[in-house]
Amino acid sequence: MFSLENRVQEYAWGSREAIATLLGQGPSDRPQAELWMGAHPAASSSIELDGSRERLIDAIAGRADAFLGGPTVDRFGARLPFLLKVLAADQPLSLQAHPDEAQARRGFDAENAAGIPIDAPERTYRDPHHKPELLCALTPFDALCGFRPAAALPEVFALLTGGPADALVPRGAAPVDAAAVARLFQGLLALDPAARREVVSSVVEACRARAQAGGWLARASGWALRLHELYPGDIGVVIALLLNDVHLEPGEALYLPPRRMHAYVHGVGIEIMASSDNVLRGGLTPKHVNVDELVRVLDFSPWRVEPVAPRQAGAESFYDTPAPEFRLSRIELDAASTWRTADRRGPEIVLCTRGQASLTDARGVTRALRQGGSIFVPFDSRGYAIEGEGQFFRATVGL
Ligand SMILES: [Zn+2]
Repeated sequence: MFSLENRVQEYAWGSREAIATLLGQGPSDRPQAELWMGAHPAASSSIELDGSRERLIDAIAGRADAFLGGPTVDRFGARLPFLLKVLAADQPLSLQAHPDEAQARRGFDAENAAGIPIDAPERTYRDPHHKPELLCALTPFDALCGFRPAAALPEVFALLTGGPADALVPRGAAPVDAAAVARLFQGLLALDPAARREVVSSVVEACRARAQAGGWLARASGWALRLHELYPGDIGVVIALLLNDVHLEPGEALYLPPRRMHAYVHGVGIEIMASSDNVLRGGLTPKHVNVDELVRVLDFSPWRVEPVAPRQAGAESFYDTPAPEFRLSRIELDAASTWRTADRRGPEIVLCTRGQASLTDARGVTRALRQGGSIFVPFDSRGYAIEGEGQFFRATVGL
């Protein structure tokens, strides 16, 4: 077992307090958006191995069978297939979606064939992997995710009547289906800058009138107004209205399958994802939006999103998803109790979000774990026990 040293990513939307507080530090003078725990090539955690510091990605590559175990190596190769993060959003992230496995492979191969360097700004597919993700709230958490159910969309369409977007909206008996949503979405992104500004300002006016009326559309209108303050004139303000607005209470989680448009808006959470960099942006960003590729990748079908209800087994609550790359669970321990693994499937990372404990593996190796600390448990450590008090997140493969 190895204590992890982790990298903090200082993106502009991050909080100056949440990650610092978790790590037992005073407020940061720079925004801290994400704490990364894993072996991602861009910001691998490091461990102390045989007396020297080594990046976890290198340590794993040299000892794949011992650290990952046969089933993980057979399925994913000599790489840690998941990345665990603490995510602290003071401001909304950009609207984005991630490709599925076939789309990622095809896009990666096509950009390689076209000779686009991996780190070029115009590169979309930086690896051949999909990127499903799960976010478990530590504080009340707000997100936008997936296009709203068909029954709700006409009320949003009503905000678009009159003005340049009017012709894009399905009318009368026209079906409100994936094709209609795709047509509207594509049409909004294809507007010239003047028409775009006009649409955004007329929708913002309509939202101002709705925001006081109560109900879900008032809440959605409130979000649109807030987004417009941060990204004035961005067409993402209008797209955000088409998406489900999801509120999570601490302990609730949201699963983002590939191909669904989403944006985390506000809050602190634990995020686990397939280790990949493939992001297609769709607004609320100064970065380039590759509209054609985004439209090819997105799933436009109307969707009623439900939080993932944890499945409890003793002190451990599992957030089950279909993703084979990861499985997240949360362990709550009362004063001085002991929890033991019942199953080991592959490599694990254990993060302490509250309290303190010691981990002891089957060989008798012990590591201390405090709030904000994390431990990599190689597969060949076999079973282990957590003894102490507090809240712990356990990340492993979903095999
Ligand atoms: Zn995402």
